[in-house]
Amino acid sequence: MIYDVYMPVRCIYGKNAVTEKSELLASAGKKCLIVTGKSGAKKSGALDDAVNALDKEKISYEIYDGITENPLISSCWEAGKKARESGAEFILGIGGGSAQDASKAIAFYATNPEFRPVDIYGKDKGCIPPLPVILIGTTAGTGSEVTAVSVLTNDETGIKKSVKGPDCYASVSYCDPKYTYSLPYGYTVSTALDAFHHAVEGYFTTKCEGVERIYAEKAIQMLYSALKELSTSEEVSEELRDSLYYGSIYAGLVINTCGTAFPHPMGYVLTENFGVPHGTACAAFFTEYIERCVKFSPGKAADFFRMTDCESKVKELISSLVKLDDIKISPEAAHKYSARWENVIPGNFTASPGGLTREEAEKILLKFN
Ligand code: NAP
Ligand code: FE
Repeated sequence: MIYDVYMPVRCIYGKNAVTEKSELLASAGKKCLIVTGKSGAKKSGALDDAVNALDKEKISYEIYDGITENPLISSCWEAGKKARESGAEFILGIGGGSAQDASKAIAFYATNPEFRPVDIYGKDKGCIPPLPVILIGTTAGTGSEVTAVSVLTNDETGIKKSVKGPDCYASVSYCDPKYTYSLPYGYTVSTALDAFHHAVEGYFTTKCEGVERIYAEKAIQMLYSALKELSTSEEVSEELRDSLYYGSIYAGLVINTCGTAFPHPMGYVLTENFGVPHGTACAAFFTEYIERCVKFSPGKAADFFRMTDCESKVKELISSLVKLDDIKISPEAAHKYSARWENVIPGNFTASPGGLTREEAEKILLKFN
């Protein structure tokens, strides 16, 4: 088998990366649009550091702070227009996966004035290359810093869908774990669950060998022990935060090559219909997922439990961190939610050990009945 690993992002790791390597901003242009959500970029200190670095490099900027969780294509379109009209030469995305993913899309809208919001999904049919994107992460979860993926919500359908491709990479990502220190406990847990799921879902795909397997094993070990510690106390030390952040980057490298499995698209249903944070929504299907891994990929499963604990303990830990008692899904609703997989079986289903059909997905959703 041939393994193809492509990850061209220049990653600057470590404390004070933005201030110490500000010259990389200057290499992207003289004017930028800063893209953030309402609060995370400010609370984390990343916005202040970025503005100081831009001032130092004599780069002018405007700010778009209208990105919400599970970013909407309409907001990205609006920000793209602002970038174009202001003459921005690059996009500087600061935040968690939402602001970072939005930045990748905004870069396309900025250079393609004829795009309607929905046209981002058809970018591969032909478009002008996007503006360069520079990212500063503030959550320890998605690994969007190193992935060629942007997960967007179509406001018309309410459905989350990814845009991907080599043109979706950031040119530079600043990876400084200190920006995650202000993340509240609840989001710390949900983003850690997302990172752990990336590592585990990627690990069990057939693409996860060689260097990817090393990244996956490292991420699984770092994130599993971090999740155990998170489950015992809401006090999160800086050391634990650093471990969560770097673990999330390793996990991002894994999904960038290996992709994710069925908990991701199934989790979208819980986010879209019940507002469950992304990582928690994926982890809601951990038990069903790991049971299939044990059944269809027993060798890797044995290695996985050697890196963590026995099957029952791993399941117990993840379920203790996923509290979704209020969610109710009737048989009719499960049928309706799974209709999106009727004719198009997502790659995430086929990449799961044993595969997954629409009917099986519908049955799994009924655990909430
Ligand atoms: P997020 O939606 O970016 O942020 C979650 C919340 O945390 C927001 O309310 C945000 O506030 C706040 N926040 C962020 N950083 C903070 C900080 N340092 N201090 C205080 N508050 C902070 O969460 P996420 O889990 O990182 O991203 C989830 C999105 O990424 C989903 O749409 C998911 O589908 C996608 N995703 C992408 C990839 C990929 O490869 N690209 C992979 C997995 C998931 P504000 O909004 O007010 O700033
Ligand atoms: Fe994810």
